Amino acid sequence: MQSLTSRAKAVDRKPMTMWEKMYIPAIAKGMSITFGHMFKKKPTVNYPEKTRPFSPVFRGLHVLNRDEEGRERCTACGLCAVACPAEAITMEGAERLPGEENVYREEKYAAKYEINMLRCIFCGLCEEACPKDAIYLSETFAPSNYTRKGFIYGKEELLIPDPVTDPQGFAKARGEHQPTTAK
Ligand code: SF4
Ligand code: SF4
Repeated sequence: MQSLTSRAKAVDRKPMTMWEKMYIPAIAKGMSITFGHMFKKKPTVNYPEKTRPFSPVFRGLHVLNRDEEGRERCTACGLCAVACPAEAITMEGAERLPGEENVYREEKYAAKYEINMLRCIFCGLCEEACPKDAIYLSETFAPSNYTRKGFIYGKEELLIPDPVTDPQGFAKARGEHQPTTAK
């Protein structure tokens, strides 16, 4: 049969020798590879007990940020949603009411804020677009889930702990990440 390319190779079908039929060289070769690996440093880690150090530019799960007084920074301007190439962000804005100045930093806030983690490609453009340092990508993974709905993160999952009432939780969620666009 004519070959379509010039890469075809004829298969060597010469009969096996007696030594090859005993498979001893092949077994010895395979075992030597196995034993060789037993004494090598393991490339795996016992996750989650141990974790690998992340790159300084690692982009993980999103966090909705608060200011130093614990007020939500997001003003529901929608710039993150516009910047998102995956159309993963949806939100609903609301007007801040008198007496809510200690809860929301701006006059308008996100009453509902959702990110679909199945759409997200963790590009970080939402963080770049935000003028209020209200969203950033942290150093943690989005955990696995059994349902699609479980990957749609709302404010309950995204909001960082209050630095006034839970400073330890805030510091842990914040990690090494330093704000670059705080305004
Ligand atoms: S990281 Fe990128 S894809 Fe994910 S929500 Fe932000 S802008 Fe969209
Ligand atoms: S996270 Fe930032 S960019 Fe997105 S709506 Fe809130 S303030 Fe605007």
